[in-house]
Amino acid sequence: MPISSAVIAERQTEAEQYVRSVYDKVVRRDPNEVEFHQAVKEILESLVPVLARHPHYIQHGILERLVEPERMITFRVPWMNDAGEVKVNRGFRVQFNSAIGPYKGGLRFHPSVNLSIIKFLGFEQILKNALTGQPIGGGKGGSDFDPKGKSDAEVMRFTQSFMTELYKYIGPDTDVPAGDIGVGAREIGYMFGQYKRIRGGYEAGVLTGKGIGYGGSLARKEATGYGCVYFAVEMLKSRGLSFQDSTVVVSGSGNVSIYAIEKAQQLGATVVACSDSNGYIYDPNGIHLPTVKRLKEVERKRISEYVTEHPGATFTEGCEGIWSIQCDIALPCATQNEIDEDAARTLVAGGTIAVSEGANMPSTLEAIDVFHKAKVLFGPAKAANAGGVAVSALEMAQNNMRLSWTFEEVDAKLQAIMRSIYNESLRAAQAHGDPDNLLMGANIAGFMKVADSMIVQGVI
Ligand code: GLU
Repeated sequence: MPISSAVIAERQTEAEQYVRSVYDKVVRRDPNEVEFHQAVKEILESLVPVLARHPHYIQHGILERLVEPERMITFRVPWMNDAGEVKVNRGFRVQFNSAIGPYKGGLRFHPSVNLSIIKFLGFEQILKNALTGQPIGGGKGGSDFDPKGKSDAEVMRFTQSFMTELYKYIGPDTDVPAGDIGVGAREIGYMFGQYKRIRGGYEAGVLTGKGIGYGGSLARKEATGYGCVYFAVEMLKSRGLSFQDSTVVVSGSGNVSIYAIEKAQQLGATVVACSDSNGYIYDPNGIHLPTVKRLKEVERKRISEYVTEHPGATFTEGCEGIWSIQCDIALPCATQNEIDEDAARTLVAGGTIAVSEGANMPSTLEAIDVFHKAKVLFGPAKAANAGGVAVSALEMAQNNMRLSWTFEEVDAKLQAIMRSIYNESLRAAQAHGDPDNLLMGANIAGFMKVADSMIVQGVI
């Protein structure tokens, strides 16, 4: 029987009240966790249409359960620096949701890391991982350790100490960490070595982002950046556009940014800017990627050094200004909240047609609103940057099968996954009355997979 409009209106109000009550409780319980509140607000508000249409989600108390991590672990990480001084950092692992698979998500080493940051990242990860179509739950971890300026030996001692505690909680079938900001191939290598040593066995699938020689997957390093561009390709296609001859700004110069730049350039774009935490470089002739790769991946230097080798380029201190550079496509690949309302307005005024988020939550809620109102194609992080974790799941699959696929095979699977994430997000957005809102679509598509699995598994 068709539902009357009065019933629909009543259900909408009920769904809104439910969302508000869950959100208020989250804020009341942990009033200082502002980043987590932001992620919860963004996701919960966009779920109202699906809750109104399927009120059984409310009866099953899905949202109350979803916002509460299954387990949160914090631990002491003592280590000794090169001067022989004892240092103590804090370690975290938030095992958020295992409804559809073992917890999966990166480790972030950055001085800003606290429980709020890890919870926001872990919460996003639940839906992101569901969107990939792979059997992986959501988790995240890290430490307030700052790898910047530390020697290799210090990084090794720190990561070994970190793993000496973390190993108790992870495993190929329970929780599979990977990299994030401040955690790359070097850190994963040291952590894998320490895990193997403690466990006394070769459990290749316990970490992803491993080196190719010891169980890593080809194309994992490239996956987040490439995936972010593949997602943008799908969005642009919907308006008959492409990267060819476009001007692109990519923030950051870490693993995500470098491979977003590479793919955008391969597709015929001119990438004119990128950044690090000190500031940004602008090169109107197009960023020379081999220089950025060498500076960042090999020499671990600051991006400002780029201008000494490329006199046509300029360096500007501070990061916000990067969004005042005119561009057709913006790929924020640095960190959370790097595009605020003003930056979003500047981009829109400059004629930006697409934003694809390579970082996690790089746009504030107000910025997203500006993009939606201006009909800018907006690829939300949990969809646009899911390529990294998707290929991590492919790495786990290869480890289980004890074989490795070629670069081309993995890249083809990545492209298919990004296309499918785009299509699923679009379909969910269309089905819930806001066809241009891929953020809502991605949230709903990811949510339904997780919520349906939680319901059939009982009150867990
Ligand atoms: N840190 C990445 C993310 O935010 C990758 C996680 C993983 O590969 O497990 O999705």
